[in-house]
Formats: sequence, structure tokens, C-alpha cells
Amino acid sequence: MTGQTQVNRALFDEVMVPNYAPANIIPVKGAGSRVWDQQGREYIDFAGGIAVSSLGHCHPALVSALKQQADKLWHLSNVMTNEPALRLASALVNATFADKVYFANSGAEANEAAFKLARRYALEKFGAHKDQIISFHKSFHGRTFFTVTVGGQAAYSDGFGPKPGAVLHGEFNNLDSVKALISDNTCAVVLEPIQGEGGIIPATAEFLQGVRDLCNQHNALLIMDEVQTGVGRTGKLYAYMHYGVTPDILTTAKSLGGGFPIGAMLTTDDIASHLKVGTHGSTYGGNPLACAVAEAVLETVNQPEVMAQVLSNEQLCRQQLAAINEKYQVFSEIRGKGMLLGAILNEQYKGRSREFFLAAADQGLMALVAGPDVVRFAPSLVITPEDITAGMQRFEQAVKQVVNA
Ligand SMILES: *Cc1c(COP(=O)(O)O)cnc(C)c1O
Repeated sequence: MTGQTQVNRALFDEVMVPNYAPANIIPVKGAGSRVWDQQGREYIDFAGGIAVSSLGHCHPALVSALKQQADKLWHLSNVMTNEPALRLASALVNATFADKVYFANSGAEANEAAFKLARRYALEKFGAHKDQIISFHKSFHGRTFFTVTVGGQAAYSDGFGPKPGAVLHGEFNNLDSVKALISDNTCAVVLEPIQGEGGIIPATAEFLQGVRDLCNQHNALLIMDEVQTGVGRTGKLYAYMHYGVTPDILTTAKSLGGGFPIGAMLTTDDIASHLKVGTHGSTYGGNPLACAVAEAVLETVNQPEVMAQVLSNEQLCRQQLAAINEKYQVFSEIRGKGMLLGAILNEQYKGRSREFFLAAADQGLMALVAGPDVVRFAPSLVITPEDITAGMQRFEQAVKQVVNA
């Protein structure tokens, strides 16, 4: 490739593995909740890089943390520890149930560590029979072979040969289905407090408490995958805090880095002690640049004013979506919490989420889907009311476009 290469969407098809189907535009710049493409066209960002850009684009606190660390030290590997990693781990421990932290580079890797730890813990403490992991249909836990197998969509894990075994799938929000699967052979139950990719489906309080009780009865660990719901997204630092149900292991990524890749697994002293020296690891995990940025994210997000803003932003989004629905009658309900909302398409529009997503892009709004029936919004936690209103005006035009098509 030389300097003469035209960097455009066509180049993607030429040089990239075809596992994604990106939009036709190429964004080049972002500030807050606005993004501009190569042609200078402006978009309002309700997608947040899939629930990642928790503080919008190029937030001054994150830019400053990244630049400061960039002039100091980029990488060591885990042969040595580093100051940003230790500060971030302390902040996570202070803010949650956890005593110990393991750093990874993505949600999938944080979950991979969680599942391996659950297996190891059960093996060492109870014996080899206790190896079953229970997860739920429609759940999503990442794309490594173990995590995608635990995930609840076989279509994502089929076609790659033999899968990791002892993984069972129950029905989300159905305690009887967990009762039918759980036994003394269960090492862990893993769930998302709000299923994200599966369609923005919040766990009911009874279900979460019921699963917690069943785990206690069977000496199984409760793993909460908060990769999408974590770091203030739902108006509390972690979604488990809304429910008063505490996991044994929690995984976090996406919003934690605010756009810089990082993931983490949080757990207790007792459980952590089973991940002894040499049992697991990652070259980049706990990288100083990533941890410096995440430290700034956590410090900025975990403030009462910000959590209050997430909830007032939710109310504003819900009001404006209700007003749009009043006019066009396309949704059956709005689900989710804080800045993770799903507009569920009604019978008439079922299966057509992608049309809404594409029409939104036409109107200058970046949105998301969560399966064929849900239009998902995961904006910056600190998006301004003005940007919400402007974005919802564009969304209304998109809805009009689909309805009149
Ligand atoms: C996105 C997501 C993952 C995977 O995270 P990656 O960073 O893409 O590996 C895992 N679990 C949940 C709930 C997610 O939303």
C-alpha cells in the first residue's frame, strides 16, 4: 500500500476479512456526542461505539489522562506491575463488592477469565464432577470459543468444530428452568443483569434473587456479565447495585475504557486465591495506557451528579420516544435502564430493526439494533439534553421514513 491508496469504504472489501458489514460512511472525528465523516457530514451519536464511549468522544479528562501517560510509560507486561493498574484496581475494589481484580483487554477476555476461574475454583474445592456452567438463551458473553459457547445463540458458536463442554442453557427470567438445570455439578451460573445483545431484557428482581439463592444452595458461583451494563450505564456504577443481589464474580469492559480497550474481572479474596501464579494471564492485561484512561473514566463517571444525569437522560429519552410512538405507533414498549434503552418494535414492524437503523443513519443519527426487533440506544452517559432532543428529532424523521416507505 502506498500513499496513493484511496482510503474509502471500497478499500474495506479489498483488504479486510469480511466478518463485518460496516456502514458506507467513514467517521474521522468526534467531540462529545457528535461525529463527523470524511465528507464533513455531522452525526449525533446514540450508539456510543456499542455502549463503550461512556463520556462521549474525546472527553478532556480522558484525552489528558491518555496524553500524560503517553509521555511516561506505555507497556511493561505482567512481569512487572504498574502505577495506573494498581490505582485502577484499588478504585474498583473500593467502589464494588470485590476484593481482587484481574485485567484483560476486552469483555470476552474478562469472561474467559471468569469461566476458567469458576471451573478451577470448583475443581479444587469440590472435585472434577463440578464443571457445569449454566447460562441463558439469547445471552452474549463474547466471541472467544469458550465465551461464545457459553453465550445463548448457537448460531454464533456453530461451525467451528467441537465446542467446550459442560455448558447448559436455561430460559432467562424463568427460575423453574434454572431449577431444572442446577445441581451439585454446577460450578457457575452466568447472566447479564440486562441482556444487551439479546434485546435489552432486564432480569426481574425475583429472578436475580432466586438465581442467587439457588447458587448458594448448590455451592455454585454467580457470575454477572456487566460488560454492557457496567460503569454507570444504568445509573448506578454496576447494575447489580439496583437489585441488591451481589455476584461472586463480575466482568466489566466496554464503558470501562471509554473507547480505550480494557476489560476486568472482579471477585472476592477466597475465589481469587484459586487463580494462582501461572494459571492465567495476558500480555497486554493491565497495560498502563489503558488503565490510566479507565482510571479517569471511573473517577469522572462514579459521581452522584453523573449518575443522576444518566437517570434524567433516561427520562428525557423515554418521553421523547413516547411522543414519537404516539404519532407513528411503531413500538410496543421501551425497555432498559439509564443510557441503555431498547425500543421494541410492535407486531407490525417486527423483524425490521435494521431499516430503522439505516434510516437513522440517513437522518444523521447513529443508533444500534439488538436483534431484529429492537432499536437500541447506548449514548454517552453525559450526553446533553440538547443533543438528546436534536437526536430524537432525527430519529423521528427516520421513523417517518420507515413508516412511509
Ligand atoms: C460486548 C459484550 C461482550 C464482549 O465484549 P468484547 O469486548 O466485544 O469482547 C461480553 N458480554 C456482554 C454482555 C457484552 O455486551
